[in-house]
Amino acid sequence: MEYSPSIEKLIESFEKLPSIGHKTAQRLAFYMLDLSKEEIKEFTDSIINAKNNLKFCSKCFNISDTDPCNICSNPKRDESVICVVEEVRDVLAMERTHEYNGVYHVLHGSISPMNGVGPDNIKIKELLTRLMDGKVKEIILATNPRVEGEATAMYISKLVKPLGIKVTRIARGIPIGGDLEYTDEVTLAKSLEGRVEL
Ligand SMILES: [Zn+2]
Repeated sequence: MEYSPSIEKLIESFEKLPSIGHKTAQRLAFYMLDLSKEEIKEFTDSIINAKNNLKFCSKCFNISDTDPCNICSNPKRDESVICVVEEVRDVLAMERTHEYNGVYHVLHGSISPMNGVGPDNIKIKELLTRLMDGKVKEIILATNPRVEGEATAMYISKLVKPLGIKVTRIARGIPIGGDLEYTDEVTLAKSLEGRVEL
């Protein structure tokens, strides 16, 4: 059956969201249509406000109120070690361990040909630019232990190793297919401590 163009458009918009298939997109679209106008406004306002207030650190691409962010601008943090993560929420996960004193680089995604995400769609070029001043001694690849995260880690490793920088991968304490953000602090801290050189 065919929906009206405006419903089709709404479904299409939902389908663009990560891991939302057509059926889920349909369900979300009809759920939204059932909401009151006030509820819709609250929802769309929250997206627009978050977007307007949000700033990315121009060094590490973490979300921040300031640029550079409070981690990059903290003189106590070790700038010679960069922990590379997929998402901003992974920074929070690493910070919760209280075991890491270096800085971060947020890729904002992982390489996923299936979803049309190539190396140029995430912040890999920006990472390489950061390495050019020769101050960085180690890159810790803390992408998620999934196919995309592993592929991303391998890709970055191949680019960085020839620069003479030590490249390590967090140990496999995290369950395969798991996410950093759902990993408890102790496991994540162990995984960081037990990182292996690639
Ligand atoms: Zn930063």
